[in-house]
Amino acid sequence: MIDKEELKQRQESFEVLKNNNPEIILNSKLKENWSRFLSIFSKDKIRNLKMSDYVLDKNNPEGSFCYWVEVRLNELGNMHGSFALKFGLYLSKETREYIPTKKFGKTKEEAFIKIKESLIDLLDAGKDNDLKRVGENVLSPMFKGKILFLYYPDKFISILSKGHLNYFLDELNINYTEDLSEIDKRNILINFKNNDSVMKNWTNQEFSNFMYKFYRPPKKLQELIIDDEQEQKEIIKKVSILSREQIIAELRIAKPILKEKVKINGENYKRDNKTIAFLKILRGFKCQICKNAILKKDGSLYVEAAHITEKYKNGSEMPENILILCPNHHKEFDFGNRKIISRSSKEVVFKLNDKDYNISLELD
Ligand SMILES: [Zn+2]
Repeated sequence: MIDKEELKQRQESFEVLKNNNPEIILNSKLKENWSRFLSIFSKDKIRNLKMSDYVLDKNNPEGSFCYWVEVRLNELGNMHGSFALKFGLYLSKETREYIPTKKFGKTKEEAFIKIKESLIDLLDAGKDNDLKRVGENVLSPMFKGKILFLYYPDKFISILSKGHLNYFLDELNINYTEDLSEIDKRNILINFKNNDSVMKNWTNQEFSNFMYKFYRPPKKLQELIIDDEQEQKEIIKKVSILSREQIIAELRIAKPILKEKVKINGENYKRDNKTIAFLKILRGFKCQICKNAILKKDGSLYVEAAHITEKYKNGSEMPENILILCPNHHKEFDFGNRKIISRSSKEVVFKLNDKDYNISLELD
């Protein structure tokens, strides 16, 4: 739960932050894109939209309404995570046919007419602040939320996911019932903001920025693993030009600092992901116990990093504390009956479920 004193302090820090650097709220490129979107997709133009101007299409991403709303203006409100179905009409990757969702109609033409009507209706309802009508609008909740914020940022807020809304309401100690819609919950948050002596002077966007900056909802463990895997893959791609000697040299200078960011080709990554990515390369993407890995459909090999001394026991992110293992051996290593016999920066000797292992930690 958010402590009132702490909230005040954080509001002060945020005021300083945004006054010193307004770009953190809305950088100029995003601002420009946002106004471009509003001029390309004004209400009148939405009336005359063609299907190809609407659906997400990898071959024509630039022009499509759904691409702009979901991807291009992602920083203004993240609506990833659910299906392409959320748009009511999508383009099949295989057949390149437009496929309607049942809710909107049997044929693509029928569905698209309904979608356009719903978009216009949503924009009218939003303009009048008619939350009941917004609630009745058949477009999907996240999509509606994002569109309303993009067109009326003074009236709506871009905290889109149900989980995040519940999390912020809980943290702010605001009572609500589970049957409330996302629209109602967003409205409760806006009222909370407008009743606060400091935050009432902020824009809705500043408020959601503040909430995400200081009270970011925790990620699920699964999401964390996927994020790390993704980051490691990017690093591996970037350093594929390095020789084995260069990889080893980088690993030798790894420092045991947690959470620090490192720069690779101008982009920031978690230091531990760099170390792990480099170790995966060095170990040839093979389990150090059984030499196996999982072949992914994109042709890359999947292996995991196991910490000999667990991270929660302050195990370091140094090469001498990390084993590259297949998922099976990783779980056996973590959950099995394990006894470390001896350990140095060169090797680790252990018993795992009654089998003896002697694994080299040497870098060359
Ligand atoms: Zn294995």
